[in-house]
Amino acid sequence: MRFFAVLTIFSTLAALAPAAADTLEFADGRILNNCFIRDEGVRILVWENMSEVGGPAKSYPRSQIKSYKIERDASWDEHPNLPDLSVTFIEMNPKLAGLHGSVDYDKWGRPILRARSFDKPTGIRKSKLPGGAALVDLGPNTAMQPEAAAKKLKLSYKPGEPITLTAHVRNVGFADAGPFDYAWLIDGKTVGRGRCTRSLKELEETTFQLKWRWQPGFHYVTFRITSPQKEIATINNEARDPLWGFGLVFIVNNGRVKAWHQNRTAYGTFCFEDYYRWHIDIMNRLFAASIFPSSPNGIKARVRLDRIVYTDDVDKASAQRVSQNGIIYDQGAWIWTDSPEEKKNGWQPPTKEWRNQTEWSLPHELGHQLGLTDWYVLDYPGDEGHLMPDNGDKITHFMTHPMQMMHWHGPHIHGEVDAAYLNMTWNKPRGYFGDYYFAIPRECFLKIVDVNGLPVQGAKVEIFQRGTAVDPNGKPSADHGVLYYPVIEDGNFDRPVSKLPVIVGTTDRNGILRLPNRPVKEVRTLNSFHRRPNPFGNINVVGQRGLMLVRVTKHSRPCFFWLEIYDFNVAWFRGHKDRFTMTLKTPYGSASSPLPPRNVRVEMLDDRRVRVSWDPPTVLREQHYLDRPIGYRVYRRISSDGLNDRPWFPVATVNPNIRECVIDLADTRIEDIYWFSQTNRFAVSTVGECSMESELVETVLLNKKF
Ligand SMILES: [Zn+2]
Repeated sequence: MRFFAVLTIFSTLAALAPAAADTLEFADGRILNNCFIRDEGVRILVWENMSEVGGPAKSYPRSQIKSYKIERDASWDEHPNLPDLSVTFIEMNPKLAGLHGSVDYDKWGRPILRARSFDKPTGIRKSKLPGGAALVDLGPNTAMQPEAAAKKLKLSYKPGEPITLTAHVRNVGFADAGPFDYAWLIDGKTVGRGRCTRSLKELEETTFQLKWRWQPGFHYVTFRITSPQKEIATINNEARDPLWGFGLVFIVNNGRVKAWHQNRTAYGTFCFEDYYRWHIDIMNRLFAASIFPSSPNGIKARVRLDRIVYTDDVDKASAQRVSQNGIIYDQGAWIWTDSPEEKKNGWQPPTKEWRNQTEWSLPHELGHQLGLTDWYVLDYPGDEGHLMPDNGDKITHFMTHPMQMMHWHGPHIHGEVDAAYLNMTWNKPRGYFGDYYFAIPRECFLKIVDVNGLPVQGAKVEIFQRGTAVDPNGKPSADHGVLYYPVIEDGNFDRPVSKLPVIVGTTDRNGILRLPNRPVKEVRTLNSFHRRPNPFGNINVVGQRGLMLVRVTKHSRPCFFWLEIYDFNVAWFRGHKDRFTMTLKTPYGSASSPLPPRNVRVEMLDDRRVRVSWDPPTVLREQHYLDRPIGYRVYRRISSDGLNDRPWFPVATVNPNIRECVIDLADTRIEDIYWFSQTNRFAVSTVGECSMESELVETVLLNKKF
């Protein structure tokens, strides 16, 4: 009897046990097993069991989640014998012109509106008119007059202009879909309704139209299906699109779409369109969450999926994106190019890992279509020309705010420059790239301060620039007493940091150096950015020239900092358009500092502890209150990045009788990103009255990495 009972329990468990699925660990330690997770960056959506999949999900802010593991067994991909109506996209006509392919770059890196080059893709006729049929060629004036060059293009809608919206509905299930009702809504109010009286077979598509008169502002259109039939999913029965959103195009082979239909994706359906349309929704969600001082309401720009081009020849369909007048009438595209292997043998379904997770590369890549650059271009692994004086490490730089969408593919919001740029240009055609790099305040200053935050007078400042080489035949010029040197302008921006400085000057009594506005080839963009004379010179839009190394020297002690264009752009977008000062903190002492400790040294005690020790300062002035130590402060610094990237951080402050300090390397390790060198340095300062510190006396922990 007992044996029998155990068996019964087992068989009941087997019948009730849900199929093996995802595990979610909350920050508070709770664990949710056998659920289904969708990662949208700022939030995690959870279906708690299979019967919920395809319907509304529970939503958790990401901060409430510690980790998750996605693992789904074969039952996830079983084909339910059900229909599944999906609103795949809503197309809008007429279309606005975009500028993709119409922006050309000269050797000074100027973006200039020109007729596209028709070399690629093949099969498109070369435009006969100089400047293209649609773009006006103003000769050398085109660079400064983009509005005149683009004056024939349709770039916006007029209030009241008739607009046609076409909703595409597809049965992405495995059984016929019967008749259904539908409604059109603008800003949540019904403006049209009807009934589809026919049935749709597996993968069959139908369309519905709405005529609407354009209204300026931020309006949404919704197309909603109401069906009495049970479906695989209901979340795809409605599409809600921002009408002001940038219209994007997907171009994909019919074979690829069919291959995706074989398996369920993270979105919960058996559908290419649903999965990728979801990524457009994720982009809009992350836009809204990108809140900064210069974009207090997030990014108001939006994207919408205007069209999916289904084709049997992706190359041809991509070429046809260009209209006869040389203009592309979309604001960006994502093209699923077919590999030679796929062209020959057909399309395989995406892997489990791929289709059951968010494809973070897509919002990033579509960000490029909107004009956003790769912020990782500002990372720099260093070069042989610029080495740390103590251990010979290359002086490196990692972008100041890497946890953002355009630095890494991942669940990140957009950074402040992206946010401010998209807010400034949400209603402008796409096709320019990185023209926000031109947003530099009119006058920029460096303020060099010492360890106490006081000005360093008479420091030599030499600035080296990546992407340049100083022209050996050039003569320096002066701007407000600061010298700048001409650089070679041959269109090659791929150079390492210049060996010779492009700017040389000395700080004034306030520790200030005004950065010279180096001459440029001026250019304006339709987005209202203007490359004027500025400290970075002829900035290129990819960003290599947006990084400068600063060597500050006083007391024969050089210190290294990086000027990253991001900080200058942020200042401009925050409203500091006329004046911007960047403060660089050196480890130098002040006039009122006590004398520094002597003979600072570090030794490893075991695998995770070091001993930092020092001798007290020499007494030069008996009974002098400025020299009276009230304590010592011990600092640590990791990496050989610039001093403003990874500054010294205090790890201990001790009384004046102490001569050594044991530091736990793990406990005092700040969790910054040490991408390049892991070098550890330690320093000690004497703390005088009013906590006035001496210069930092530093030492390097040689050959030890932690
Ligand atoms: Zn990228």
